[in-house]
Amino acid sequence: MTDARTRSILERHGLRCTRQRAEIYHALVSTSSHPTAEELFGMVRNRLPGLSLATVYNTLDAFVRRGLARKFALPPSVGEDPSASAPAPAARYDADTSEHIHLISDHGKVRDVPPDLGRRLIDGLPPDVLDELERRMGVSIDQVRIEISGTSTGRSC
Ligand SMILES: [Zn+2]
Repeated sequence: MTDARTRSILERHGLRCTRQRAEIYHALVSTSSHPTAEELFGMVRNRLPGLSLATVYNTLDAFVRRGLARKFALPPSVGEDPSASAPAPAARYDADTSEHIHLISDHGKVRDVPPDLGRRLIDGLPPDVLDELERRMGVSIDQVRIEISGTSTGRSC
């Protein structure tokens, strides 16, 4: 992604383009690993002397508020030490804000489910069940989120 394109995206979302924002956004867009703030900090800190982890958090919060990134957390049971003293999983960030489904496997590795399969999963939800859920629970469903977790089998095609 060019500097001009990054600038244009930041400004379109109401954020002044600073070097720190541009580098952090570029790092987030360039990876499919759904990094934590700490991981992003590690990716950009050598290009931004003086950068603090707090600035990375603040920048990511601004991206999320402005719709440039999505923030999510893994369920505590996935990819973490199951002992009761384990800290809550760190938030993860995704520059892809479109609706898509995450597959969590192999100790918390997050991957995007291919869009065609994600669409088929969502489209395959039975409408009568969703209707009944709305009636019985007194809500109007805005969105259904699906998250999949699994264990790698080593086979894929
Ligand atoms: Zn994703």
